[in-house]
Amino acid sequence: MDPILECYIEESQGTEIIANPQHYLVAEDQVYINKQTISEVMKRYAFLREFCFVAKRSSPTCYYLKCATENCSWVFKSSCLNNSKLFKVRKFYDTHSCPLKDRIQSKRQSTSGVLGAMLVEKYVDLKTVYTPTDIQADMLRIHGISLTYMQAWRGKKKAFETLRGDPAESYGKIPTYLYILEKTYPGTIVNYKKADENHFLYSFTALDASIRGWEYCRPIVVVDGTHLKSTYEGTMLIASTLDPRGHILPLAYGIVDSENDDSWLWFFENFKNAFGEREDMCFVSDRNKSIWNATAAVYPEFRHYACIYHIWTNLLKKTYRDT
Ligand SMILES: [Zn+2]
Repeated sequence: MDPILECYIEESQGTEIIANPQHYLVAEDQVYINKQTISEVMKRYAFLREFCFVAKRSSPTCYYLKCATENCSWVFKSSCLNNSKLFKVRKFYDTHSCPLKDRIQSKRQSTSGVLGAMLVEKYVDLKTVYTPTDIQADMLRIHGISLTYMQAWRGKKKAFETLRGDPAESYGKIPTYLYILEKTYPGTIVNYKKADENHFLYSFTALDASIRGWEYCRPIVVVDGTHLKSTYEGTMLIASTLDPRGHILPLAYGIVDSENDDSWLWFFENFKNAFGEREDMCFVSDRNKSIWNATAAVYPEFRHYACIYHIWTNLLKKTYRDT
């Protein structure tokens, strides 16, 4: 810990330093670890008590709040402790003189922001299913707060943004990610294609380990595509093979808009650039027409077989239909 901060903690004479932004009880003379924490605590405080405040003064050294309803007696004053980052509650008058109905109507505070911060922990585990309806029920049961479905939905969206960032911004990071991947694993081959207006269209990755491993494997390339469940959906294209022990070795993967002639052609052109050609090389896939068109264009001298799994499922479906 910062030695100056440590010194001020000592000076605060054993007062507990509150660092938890979920802290519930607010009182005069409390000391908070920084302004950010005190601000989050107060937003949550107001949200749970269903009123809104406005900042009368807010600077790196002070944080004064008053009720959003005109002429109300509720007031909160805090300021930094001896020029440190610690914030102390100097005055807290927690009684409203404003009518309850005005208080509820003046919801200027961002409900989704505060709710989102409260929900973050719920969504840390990717497998958690916690719907806006669940949020509505829990907020009513635990805090006595009634939310509309849209408020709960926005709160959930906000929590997701806090945890995973904005999906649109994540796409902007792909070129940097691919560059670092290439630098970290020399020999790795990556490519990236943008559509008009600088929008992401395709990406291709073949790791160095896959490229080196390929020459020790059977020259069979199995390809397929799978749907992505992200905000912008899209499709992941994958090429893999079998190593001498019969284990799957992933060779390359790509992210594209969908399985179509252009996307598969671009994928195979990049695949050829990374893996070249080998004697008796062949391709295995389902009967997606675009895959067959792409191998015919990029690898015209090599054979392409339909995966037996798909042949059998189609045959079974046919037999089932015919009986
Ligand atoms: Zn008030």
